[in-house]
Amino acid sequence: MSDTLLIPDWLARAPHLPRFQVRDTLHKYGRYDPRPKTVIIEDLVRFHGHLCGGLMEAAVALRAALDVLFPDGVIDRTDLAIISNNSACGGDVATYLTGARARFGAHIIDLGLSGGEFIVRKVSTGETVHVRMRPEVYPREVKAQMRKLESGDFMAEDVDLFGDLQWAYAGLLASMPPSQATLVDFLTEFSWPEPTCQNLGRRRDNDFKDAS
Ligand SMILES: [Zn+2]
Repeated sequence: MSDTLLIPDWLARAPHLPRFQVRDTLHKYGRYDPRPKTVIIEDLVRFHGHLCGGLMEAAVALRAALDVLFPDGVIDRTDLAIISNNSACGGDVATYLTGARARFGAHIIDLGLSGGEFIVRKVSTGETVHVRMRPEVYPREVKAQMRKLESGDFMAEDVDLFGDLQWAYAGLLASMPPSQATLVDFLTEFSWPEPTCQNLGRRRDNDFKDAS
């Protein structure tokens, strides 16, 4: 039973709503927790604050990218770095699903990326994938309505219309397999950029995850 405060029932019933199995350590300096956790869209909404087109785009795009990097279906959140644009929505999902933090240099911001576009790297192997939305999936009216709001020339009803359009887009994305909504490519010659956040130290809590 979904929490209708977080996502509407019709979306909860969608056939391809992304879910994620994630792997973390048991505690600070702990080894890997053998039990994966399940992350669902409602968790992303709790963290981000609202359901929106950008949240669902990012969830679908990262589902497709992480399927390639983790074919066993369990995402290791101690082993990922990501590049996203500076969207509050997509950036929040990137952080939550990968465990990559900007303050440790693992989440890099590239203003040239579009919504639903990410470069994801499995740090231990160096495997790097580029994921983006298929252009034909994105509804033009969403962008047109967003531009209208950002222009400042709009009526109050336009804000509600934008919300409806985004939710319809979220429903569309959840109606198809992520592989149908996205394009994923391996990047073999990609040089990882310098962190966008100043160097404040590195992440330490996972240092002993492989202790035996
Ligand atoms: Zn959002």
